Amino acid sequence: MNGRLMPAAEATVSVFDHGLLYGDGVFEGIRFYHRRAFRLQAHLARLTLSARALALSLPWDQAALTRAVAETITAAPDDAGYLRLVVTRGVGALGIDPRSCRQPNLFIIADRLDAMAEARRRGARLIIAATRRLGADGLDPRIKSLNYLNPILARLEANRAGADEAVMLNAAGRVTEGSADNLFIVQGGRLLTPPASDGALAGITRAVVLELAATLGIAACEQPLTPYDLYTADECFLTGTAAELVPVADIDGRPLSHCPGPLFSRLDQAFRALIERECRNKPPAVTGEAE
Ligand code: PMP
Repeated sequence: MNGRLMPAAEATVSVFDHGLLYGDGVFEGIRFYHRRAFRLQAHLARLTLSARALALSLPWDQAALTRAVAETITAAPDDAGYLRLVVTRGVGALGIDPRSCRQPNLFIIADRLDAMAEARRRGARLIIAATRRLGADGLDPRIKSLNYLNPILARLEANRAGADEAVMLNAAGRVTEGSADNLFIVQGGRLLTPPASDGALAGITRAVVLELAATLGIAACEQPLTPYDLYTADECFLTGTAAELVPVADIDGRPLSHCPGPLFSRLDQAFRALIERECRNKPPAVTGEAE
């Protein structure tokens, strides 16, 4: 918490913090394996862009953040887990004006997280939510801000329907992403995912999957998708730091032809192998280290 290691119960923020009052802040969810953060520099780069988009100046530079993450991982109870790196606007006056907030708060939580474990085993059941993803002209979904109400409204719909995840469409009816993960389909042997500009977060796991597809010789591209494309896909899967890779079993009650499909299985295996290569027997991330 602002540079000090402490037990979770002692890590508190003020009720005047605009992160709490208005969702004014940014965050990253980062996994670590073998006590090394996976794709840390990509997460820190995205955090920096999210903060810049909100005119929020990060209290620490990339090197200091990298050290803080490494220290947190060293103190974590397990060799593998999940980190939540949060920067809030900080304490200010009541009223939304960020100018009253003098000093951002920064904290990193180390925890376990396997919310999608069961869905990963049996295949996730999706619905297409009635709640539309906010447009870039309102709150750009590429900003990973503390305000998650838009996807939370979609997740509430999934919960009510007994589904694992909700797919959100944009105002034009194009597929964007899940409430907390990106979405891929396989159509005729090609891997397709909506462009981030249609209203999705530029996911780190999404980028890794596109990278793996290239090395495996799987044709992949960003392409606008509609519900029809999802219903008629050969395969569908979700990607995210928390989710990792999760095959989809059905969407709005339409079963996918394959779950897990052959391309999913190849990519998932390659993903596991990549994690081992990048994280096993490596020192915790240190300043400036290339990933
Ligand atoms: N979309 C949303 C809305 C998310 O919250 C997340 C989780 N960070 C993702 C996609 C997946 O992104 P990543 O692979 O970087 O975790």
